[in-house]
Amino acid sequence: MFIGILMVWESQQLEVLKRRLDGVTLDPSKHDMLWWIWTVDKVFSVKSVYRQWETQTQSRNALLGSLWKNLSPSKVEIFSWMAIQNRVATRSVLFERNLISELHLAKCPLCDLHVETPQHLLLHCRFSWVVWSEILAWWNIQWVCPSPIAELALWWFGNRFLNLEKYIWEACFFATLWFIWLMRNGFIFNGATKQVSEVTDLVKTIVAMWMKANISSTSRSTLWRISKVI
Ligand SMILES: [Zn+2]
Repeated sequence: MFIGILMVWESQQLEVLKRRLDGVTLDPSKHDMLWWIWTVDKVFSVKSVYRQWETQTQSRNALLGSLWKNLSPSKVEIFSWMAIQNRVATRSVLFERNLISELHLAKCPLCDLHVETPQHLLLHCRFSWVVWSEILAWWNIQWVCPSPIAELALWWFGNRFLNLEKYIWEACFFATLWFIWLMRNGFIFNGATKQVSEVTDLVKTIVAMWMKANISSTSRSTLWRISKVI
């Protein structure tokens, strides 16, 4: 058993689990049973595993393909693509490549508590988690922090926004990942401060700039709508 202080996103997941279990009543007269969730008759089959694997692979490939939207500069889209695949050069990755000699030197520079994996730095670190939460608060969206970044991306790009809102919403994904990364680098290499409000302000500003650069005829009414959303 692991004992430790839960992070905010872990506490949220625990609450979700508790709510799900609230409606569960155990029947002591029945024995425990194993059910395979990917078949109708609840019985394991190799075919169902293959079908599920195929579905996930297709959705992953579709996700990676859908990243190239020209919403942001190509270096930002490439960075996001690498982040989704856990290939960003965080300290855990440097440790795996023997560029950092000891694991304790691979701690996250933002919280100094956990190993700095791409997933931790860009999503689960308490600093980054607050940044994402603030971004989502603009959209009046509450969330439970997903586990891999790919899952966040699937949810993000599976949005139901339309037109301009869709454009801004998707650009926010790229901008948030990018500025968490830049802030981390500024902190390590230039001794810059780490402020959530600074990152969120930068996300707003850069999304507005990308919008202006990308929308060919940026009419006054379009800019007004941007300012209402951002
Ligand atoms: Zn951290």
